[in-house]
Amino acid sequence: MRFSPSRTTAVALAVVASLATSGCASLAPADDRPVVVTTFTVLADMARNVAGDHLRIESITKIGAEIHGYEPTPGDVRVTAGADLVLDNGLGLEAWFERFVGELDVPHVVVSGDVDPLPIASDVYAGRPNPHAWMSPLEAQRYVTTMVDAFSELDPPNAADYRSNGEAYAAEIDDVHDELIDGLSGLPRSQRALVTCEGAFSYLARDGGLEEAYLWPVNAEQQATPGQIAGAIDFVERNDVAAVFCESTVSDSAMRQVVGATGARFGGVLYVDSLSLPDGPVPTYLDLLRYDVRTIVGGLTGSVAAE
Ligand SMILES: [Zn+2]
Repeated sequence: MRFSPSRTTAVALAVVASLATSGCASLAPADDRPVVVTTFTVLADMARNVAGDHLRIESITKIGAEIHGYEPTPGDVRVTAGADLVLDNGLGLEAWFERFVGELDVPHVVVSGDVDPLPIASDVYAGRPNPHAWMSPLEAQRYVTTMVDAFSELDPPNAADYRSNGEAYAAEIDDVHDELIDGLSGLPRSQRALVTCEGAFSYLARDGGLEEAYLWPVNAEQQATPGQIAGAIDFVERNDVAAVFCESTVSDSAMRQVVGATGARFGGVLYVDSLSLPDGPVPTYLDLLRYDVRTIVGGLTGSVAAE
């Protein structure tokens, strides 16, 4: 079901067609700043940090949305058609977006353009790029640079501000990388393993020198098979893993089975594909990155009490 055209997509494409012929002009922004549309909340927050007040940033998907299997609505297509610039993650994350954005006459930048992709290792996705590069503070700094360049081209008079905003923001992101490296520095090689529900941490695991294991490679599945659960149990037992984790946008019941069958603790919830609401634990991308790094370091080193 992953990439097959759906009725919703057909409707969305029909809207694209009608926009193209009617020259719809009812999409004037609420203010006169240029409008940048992103595909999900993480990119929108990163873009706001680079843009400051100069641009109006919108996210197509809302907080908590499942991004991989999202179906765009006609409203999404209208909003995107009215934008001055659209940013998507790329690396196969938003197949639903790539389907319609090509039909629109809007400048389009893929923010992972300068990332060295890691492949997905297993399952039907094997060999495709892992899309979750924003989970690496090192790769995220490349996203920031790409946004600085894109915004400077869109709005040259404010290019110096985009540059300085981007540099300050990248430095904050880099601090989280240092926290990861410092936090894990005392962890023996034999215990350097990160077990999660979705295979969303390949980049972060690489940065932190952790071997990665997961129940399913991409959240479009969200349902662990008995074989995947057995594989995770085997990995945890072989590597004597202290703690396992699961992401906020999926059920943790399969990972709880792994906990029940092994000596591992449940190390906590990780945030990847969406920010939380403003009063939740990760209202911004920097919060998300710090929260995950602290949860992972705490769980693996035992420096934080288990949930
Ligand atoms: Zn994901």
